[in-house]
Amino acid sequence: MNRSDSQSRRRFLVGAAAVAASLPMVIRELGRPALAQDKDLPKLPLDNAQAKALAYIEDASKSTHPNFKPGSNCANCQFIQGPDGAAWRPCQLFPGYNVASDGWCSAWAKKA
Ligand code: SF4
Repeated sequence: MNRSDSQSRRRFLVGAAAVAASLPMVIRELGRPALAQDKDLPKLPLDNAQAKALAYIEDASKSTHPNFKPGSNCANCQFIQGPDGAAWRPCQLFPGYNVASDGWCSAWAKKA
């Protein structure tokens, strides 16, 4: 292999690594509806299997789940998306639905 081949191979590998590194972000953005459409998403049904599994409720203050921490709700969860202040917002765990900002589920994790 001559020097030109080596440089060409290095450039290819660097480019391939950059593409591979950006794939998760691209896939995530492709699967996520635009913010302008978030308000049009349906509310997460309480009988949704994943919602039930995670003990989702629309009013966090009514949670009796053992992991519930007073003051925690969807609005201060790291998985919430969309604009602050909206009553219903998308959640990364429930694609295609809006969750109540005042809601809660057992996957709650404090927003950084
Ligand atoms: S993951 Fe967070 S934002 Fe999503 S439903 Fe559960 S508490 Fe709410």
